[in-house]
Amino acid sequence: MNLSEQIRSAGVVGAGGAGFPAHIKAASTVDIVIANGAECEPLLHKDFEIMMRHAPEVVEGVRLLMGSTGAGQGIVGIKEKNADAIAAISNAAPSPQITVHRLGDFYPSGDEYILVYEATKRLIPPQGIPLNVGVVVNNVETLLNVARAAQGIAVTRKWITVTGAVRKPVTFAAPVGMTFADAIAVAGGATADNFGVFVGGVMMGALEFNMEHVVTKTTAGLVVLPADHTLVVRKSQPEKAMRRIGKSACDQCSFCTELCPRYILGYDVQPHKVMRSLGFTHTGEAHWNQYAALCCACGLCTLYACPEALFPKEACDRSKTEMKAAGEKWTGNSEVKPHPMYEGRRTPVKQLIKRLGLAPYDKHAEFVADVPTPRRILLPLSQHVGAAAVAQVKAGQRVREGDCVADVREGALGARIHSSVDGIIRSIGESIEIERG
Ligand code: SF4
Ligand code: SF4
Repeated sequence: MNLSEQIRSAGVVGAGGAGFPAHIKAASTVDIVIANGAECEPLLHKDFEIMMRHAPEVVEGVRLLMGSTGAGQGIVGIKEKNADAIAAISNAAPSPQITVHRLGDFYPSGDEYILVYEATKRLIPPQGIPLNVGVVVNNVETLLNVARAAQGIAVTRKWITVTGAVRKPVTFAAPVGMTFADAIAVAGGATADNFGVFVGGVMMGALEFNMEHVVTKTTAGLVVLPADHTLVVRKSQPEKAMRRIGKSACDQCSFCTELCPRYILGYDVQPHKVMRSLGFTHTGEAHWNQYAALCCACGLCTLYACPEALFPKEACDRSKTEMKAAGEKWTGNSEVKPHPMYEGRRTPVKQLIKRLGLAPYDKHAEFVADVPTPRRILLPLSQHVGAAAVAQVKAGQRVREGDCVADVREGALGARIHSSVDGIIRSIGESIEIERG
């Protein structure tokens, strides 16, 4: 098997975002491979722990991808503040072809457009992908999984940080399919009676109240917050209310645009203009929606920039959805030129944490090596970009950790799923339920 086939066989998907099947990137042709170790979501530290504990495998993942893509250069993007991780990766790098790029502690320095620019000075064309400028970007955990796939080891664990309102913030490699309740128990339980969980981080993650939901191959962490925390309250607002408040209170100050990381990098994203779409009914919306098309949904405008606590990010989300539904194409300005104030307008993560009311939770999330195997796991058949996987097992069947339990249809985009425990298949629906034992 070549590397792309090994990655496909091991079910590796992008561990830092939507879960794009990694074998596709491995089969592309580029000249630079970038490892994304920026980890800019406040309070999450799982990439740091991976680089500290598995630096040789992360570097091996970079080297393998350089081989499969024909790249002559590998760059690992790490924040300058994480000096120990920089040292670990630098020591593990086998050749001058793989180097570390030191990043400032800004949000969202892990955004692909920003990371590619910072590491290479190349600007991805609007609506493009890193491949358009000869680059592939993978999260450091994905690269760890690539190195393991080359040894025939399937993805059965997901590194997560469980933090916020918990007794002991922790980072660990969770069995894929572990419930949020079991994951929070590893952190000693929640310290609030009523709480919500931001899945994947407070900036870009979804808010969840059902603790029977499970860790998937793309879950970066769980941030537990009391139900009355301002982030939970704001995120819980119905969309209708967000629109109504925005329509009446937006004074067009344009702070949301002036601090937008995509705008200052030179892309034509202008959330204050998108907010104008709230004031029109079937007149002009299509025009204002255009200014949302290049938004990366980082959330900075809603959670940091807007002095009125409005929801420009959500307005952009809606505009993008409307454009897609109407089949409207982006026709904006395609010239990309970083703003003269690019350096000075970036948002420091420390400042962001204070603004978000997260300072009391900004604590070290200790690594835990031995995590109890859950009694029951649930493996969703759809936990990646592409088609849902198709079950390859039957109820009552015994499986071992690492066995393939669901596969992709021939020719479809998707990823295999493997059991993360030794156990018995109990049920098969949208998820495969496995009982330990
Ligand atoms: S920052 Fe807030 S008030 Fe100002 S333009 Fe943007 S949405 Fe409107
Ligand atoms: S969410 Fe807001 S700040 Fe972030 S890219 Fe979109 S418009 Fe810009």
